[in-house]
Amino acid sequence: MTSRDDMAALDRDDPLALAREQFDLPEGVIYLDGNSLGPLPRNVPARLAEVVNTEWRGDLIKSWNVHGWMDLPLKVGDRIAALIGAGPGEVLAADSTSVNLFKLMAAALELRPGRKVIVSQRGNFPTDNYLAEGLIRFAGTDHELRLVDGDDILGAIDDSVALVSLTQVDYRSGHVQDMAAVTAAAHKAGALVLWDLSHSAGALAVDLNGAEVDFAVGCSYKYLNGGPGAPAYLFVSRDLQDQVRQPLSGWLGHAAPFEFEASYRPAPGILRQQCGTPSILALSALDAALDVFDGLDMGLVRAKSLSLTEHFIQLVEQRCADHGFALASPRNSERRGSQVSWHHEMGYPIMQALIAEGVIGDFRSPDILRFGFAPLYLSHVDVWDAVTVIEGVMTSGRWDQPEFHQRAAVT
Ligand SMILES: *Cc1c(COP(=O)(O)O)cnc(C)c1O
Repeated sequence: MTSRDDMAALDRDDPLALAREQFDLPEGVIYLDGNSLGPLPRNVPARLAEVVNTEWRGDLIKSWNVHGWMDLPLKVGDRIAALIGAGPGEVLAADSTSVNLFKLMAAALELRPGRKVIVSQRGNFPTDNYLAEGLIRFAGTDHELRLVDGDDILGAIDDSVALVSLTQVDYRSGHVQDMAAVTAAAHKAGALVLWDLSHSAGALAVDLNGAEVDFAVGCSYKYLNGGPGAPAYLFVSRDLQDQVRQPLSGWLGHAAPFEFEASYRPAPGILRQQCGTPSILALSALDAALDVFDGLDMGLVRAKSLSLTEHFIQLVEQRCADHGFALASPRNSERRGSQVSWHHEMGYPIMQALIAEGVIGDFRSPDILRFGFAPLYLSHVDVWDAVTVIEGVMTSGRWDQPEFHQRAAVT
């Protein structure tokens, strides 16, 4: 049987142990929801104060030039590129993931005239499929969203497919798609691919160019810790950048925005994916948050993530065996992202009880308890202590108090 001392021993050998000090986590909390909203990196408040007081207050509009505000979407994009296997100039920090999905799906369809199908999974994150529906309706064409039940994506790809649009790590189960294999199959059929990296970037070693991916998007408020509603990012492979057009042809994606020309001409490269004025405060917070990843080996991050999730699965199954939890995540580590999900018919009140006792995860309808393991600020002892709280909540029946059954708007 594993003990708390065994877990402490693993922490003593943890090459990432020091990263935890870069986060300002509240006392008494084991935060297992960094896959939904990353915690506050310690350097963010000071950076924001500087941007507000020195740049905005002191240098006013000159800051667009003298403080490099105009270049921030590309600069932050390059820093994210380094974490997802992309090159400089291939990633732009802009807009939200939802908006970026719309822009890139539209761009992809235009590159494949005559092909009428977007392939996705029925279980994909809702916004991804909603945006595909909205794009098709708006375009007024006879395109079709072909939704695959389960994981047989390859079986749905044929020569009618323009775009395969998938999320690499499933938000409910944490199942990891084989990005390289699906991308290769799509290309073989003449289709393009768009990967949503919202639950991958910052937790897994993603290799977009290694897999020859065409397009990608992702959130930066999850494992990248950019803050609530932080600007998202998008990736367009270098060879496609000057071929694509995107429908939100705003002035900052123009080749010469300050010429104020009468008509739109797209900027070269990734900059044509920009639409309007970037949110400098939000980008500055994200820029500071990315410091923690400087020089970090994503292989080590992934290895620690797997060690945390493997131990969590093992300990819940040992210590909570009689309490009705059924693993909803892949047992095979290679196919599991940085989260562990459990089915439980009383999932909602159980999660509320855990949150009340300081173990913060979340609940995803209909019956999933979801625990995210961000390797930069969680330890093996945290895993042990979280399981102790779960065991206590279950054996005492404390989860069944009436207040834990009240549903809040955000779960
Ligand atoms: C979190 C998440 C989003 C969120 O999109 P927003 O536009 O930031 O609200 C999109 N896709 C996936 C796969 C996600 O996990």
